[in-house]
Amino acid sequence: MKLKVCGLTKLNQIRELVAMNIDFLGFIFYEKSPRYVLNTLTCNEIKSINHQGKIGVFVNEKIEKIIDITEKSGLNFIQLHGDEDENFITELKQKLKPEVGIIKAIRVGNDSSEVKNQVENILNLKSQISDLLFDTDSKSFGGTGKTFDWQILNELKITKPYFLSGGISEENIENIKLLEQQPFALDINSKFEIEPGNKDLEKIKNFISVVNTAPKIKIMNYQNPDKNGYYGEFGGAFVPEMLYPNVEQLQNQYLDIINSEEFQTEFRDLLKNYVGRATPLYFSKNLSEKYQTQVYLKREDLNHTGAHKINNALGQVLLAKKLGKKRIIAETGAGQHGVATATACALMNLECIVYMGEIDIARQAPNVGRMKMLGATVIPATSGSKTLKDAVNEALRDWINNASTTHYIIGSVVGPHPFPDLVARFQSVISEEIKWQLKEKIGRENPDYVIACVGGGSNAAGTFYHFVDEPAVKIIAAEAGGFGLDSGKSAATTFLGTLGVLHGSKSLVMQTEDGQVIEPHSISAGLDYPGIGPFHANLFKEKRAEFFSITDEEALKSAFELTQIEGIIPALESAHALAVLGKKKFKKEDVVVICLSGRGDKDMETYLKNL
Ligand SMILES: *Cc1c(COP(=O)(O)O)cnc(C)c1O
Repeated sequence: MKLKVCGLTKLNQIRELVAMNIDFLGFIFYEKSPRYVLNTLTCNEIKSINHQGKIGVFVNEKIEKIIDITEKSGLNFIQLHGDEDENFITELKQKLKPEVGIIKAIRVGNDSSEVKNQVENILNLKSQISDLLFDTDSKSFGGTGKTFDWQILNELKITKPYFLSGGISEENIENIKLLEQQPFALDINSKFEIEPGNKDLEKIKNFISVVNTAPKIKIMNYQNPDKNGYYGEFGGAFVPEMLYPNVEQLQNQYLDIINSEEFQTEFRDLLKNYVGRATPLYFSKNLSEKYQTQVYLKREDLNHTGAHKINNALGQVLLAKKLGKKRIIAETGAGQHGVATATACALMNLECIVYMGEIDIARQAPNVGRMKMLGATVIPATSGSKTLKDAVNEALRDWINNASTTHYIIGSVVGPHPFPDLVARFQSVISEEIKWQLKEKIGRENPDYVIACVGGGSNAAGTFYHFVDEPAVKIIAAEAGGFGLDSGKSAATTFLGTLGVLHGSKSLVMQTEDGQVIEPHSISAGLDYPGIGPFHANLFKEKRAEFFSITDEEALKSAFELTQIEGIIPALESAHALAVLGKKKFKKEDVVVICLSGRGDKDMETYLKNL
């Protein structure tokens, strides 16, 4: 970050600051300011200072006077610190020499929507403005030593470099280093003074040495993507141009809609009365004894339609209704997401089209039958390998052709931004419940471990969501290892994948060197996906979560074990999470919560073959 020292009034101090290589020197040409520069210096003296970063600060000044002072003082930048509007700025820019830049100050008060508006209007001016500056709002137009709530900067789309001003000091510099979009320059003033206009050069010298060192504290920030949909380096929205309007509409509206009281009331009511939530957090005495630790099972298998997928399907159908869409499309592999979507559409009377690979249709006849009975049209994807990834491609093609009428319900935390975040939020009810259920049962909200299986990663994202930023909670993800990592028949994306773009987002992808997607393999159709959501790719890269690769055989063994000692037949996917118990030694007192993402009815054929 660069540094600007503002409110200069003394020539000897200015010379020292120049010798210290300070990037910007600020001169206040506002008569009411205690640091009004023309009280002590002349324009000529300012002109004689040999520096390329001389900034003149003006407050609601006349254009002619600004031009006159700029020329006489040899200013390089004009900082407009009052209520100058877009017309004023446009006119000033026309009259100024082209090499003189304009910095527009935005004074931040309590009304964040007002700030958002101002920033948008100013940024519309594009080339007339070279930088923005954010300062604390005050009647005296700055120099108060007060900070504003810097969090608001994380909510803004700031497409220009910006100066940060207002009460900056050594006490709060660490907080500035944690801002998502770092300031181009810090503007320091009253906190580095002996009295107004008289700078404390020693203090400034010390400050220079701490400004650009690495942040001392690192807060955990894994739960939410940034405003462009990135979790670290993963995520984003890579879609064909024809989908921009739809994706942008979603990006702009999803948070407002799903956080609204009206939406939440409807959604929560459905989860409770239709899905049957809260699902139990079941203390498994038998697994606990066997593995000598405290095992709790989050019973998503008891949801209506038999898995966690209904949480997302209902949320998205509700969202589609609010967006005025009449037609729903979805992709499905094993048919679980297709069934959940068809269910939600039947309930809310929306047309439902499900794309499914031709091979999957043949393999998953019962689910195809359910979808049809629920009134959905199942369209076979006949291209490529005729499985899940081809179904996604067909669904995307449909969306392009029917963008205005149709909402695409993605079934996991994958796809272009905002889908990963949207799906994670709908599934986050899982960890929300775990928290209060644990509190009720053992008196504390945080377990020692949470474990879930990862296909795309939606049940895992829901299980981890309220724990990823709690350092005390350890996180374990179980991927489908298939026949084993070296077998060529696996779906363990974090172990085998490389950075790539799949289905609209940048993440880890199983691919050949020239970017051809490798067909994954897993005994469980729900984990048989060549990618992984960006949320999880980031947890993997940052080592926030530990990843296990579970083979088909290990998963089968765990499924039979749970059935025999607890009388619960789990989905094969969920059995991968259970298998972690046999791979990692937990302490006797550890509280280990495992997400039982679904029930095993759909897997009976496989189970019977392996009895
Ligand atoms: C679909 C499915 C999964 C895998 O999907 P995620 O998005 O990774 O959760 C896991 N378990 C069950 C029961 C499923 O139906």
